[in-house]
Amino acid sequence: MREDWQRALCVAAHPDDLEYGTASAVARWTSQGKQVSYLLATRGEAGIDGMDPGEAGPLREAEERDGARAVGVELVEFLDHRDGVVEYGLPLRRDITRAIRRHRPEVVVGGAFTDRMVGGVTNQADHRAVGLATLDAARDAGNRWIFPELAGEGLQPWSGVRYVCLAAAREPTHGVDVTGFVERGMAWLQAHRAYREGLGGAAFDPAEFLPWIAAASGARLDVGFAVLFEVHELISDGAPPWVTPQNLSEVEPATPPGGSPQA
Ligand SMILES: [Zn+2]
Repeated sequence: MREDWQRALCVAAHPDDLEYGTASAVARWTSQGKQVSYLLATRGEAGIDGMDPGEAGPLREAEERDGARAVGVELVEFLDHRDGVVEYGLPLRRDITRAIRRHRPEVVVGGAFTDRMVGGVTNQADHRAVGLATLDAARDAGNRWIFPELAGEGLQPWSGVRYVCLAAAREPTHGVDVTGFVERGMAWLQAHRAYREGLGGAAFDPAEFLPWIAAASGARLDVGFAVLFEVHELISDGAPPWVTPQNLSEVEPATPPGGSPQA
C-alpha cells in the first residue's frame, strides 16, 4: 500500500475493533510522522455481559484512548450511536461525513461490511452498518449538495480521500508490512483488560491470535508480519486501465472473436 500521504482517519463501530490488526499498521504510520485519528460510532457499552452499559461505556472509552495513545494516536472521537443496534442510514452517514470534512484525511480506514469477514467469520451487525456508511461518507464528504447543512456548521466539502481501506476483508487487495510493529499494535492487551475479563469463558487469547493472523498475512506479501486491506481507490493514482499512453486515435477497436462484445 502506498504511503505518500499524511493524514488518516480510522472509523470503527466499537472500542477494540481497530486493535484487531489495524493498530499495527497505525503504529507504523505514526512512526513515519503521519497523523492518524480514531472515530468510534459507539462506546461499546453493550460489550460486557456482566457490566451495566452505564458503567461499561466510560470504561471502554478510557481503554480505547489508552490503546490509541500506545500507537501514537492522540485524537479519539465518539459518535454515541447505541452499541449493538447501530443503523445504516443518513444520520450515520452524516456523522461520519462531518468527521471526514473536519479531519480532511487522505486515507480513511474502515471495516469490511460483508456478511462474512476474513477466514469466513460471520460479521457483526454494527460492523456492517458502520463499514458501509464509512465508504459512502468518504464520497459524501466531497459533495456540497449532500448534507448541505454541514456547510452551515462551517464545514466545506472535502474530496481529498484517496483510499478507503477495509480491514478484515475476505478478498484483500493491499497490505502493510508491520514487521516490528505487532508488539505496539497489541498494546490493547493491557489497555482493554476490563473488556476481555468481562467476556469470561467466551474470550479467546488475542496474544495468540494477533501474531498468527499477522504472520499469515505477512506470508502473502513475503514479509514477516502484515495487515491486509481491501482498498477502494477514490482518486486514481495513475491513468485508468482504459487509457493508454498512446494516442487514442491510433488505437484500433478490438474485434471480439465470434462477433459482438458482451455486456
Ligand atoms: Zn466490534
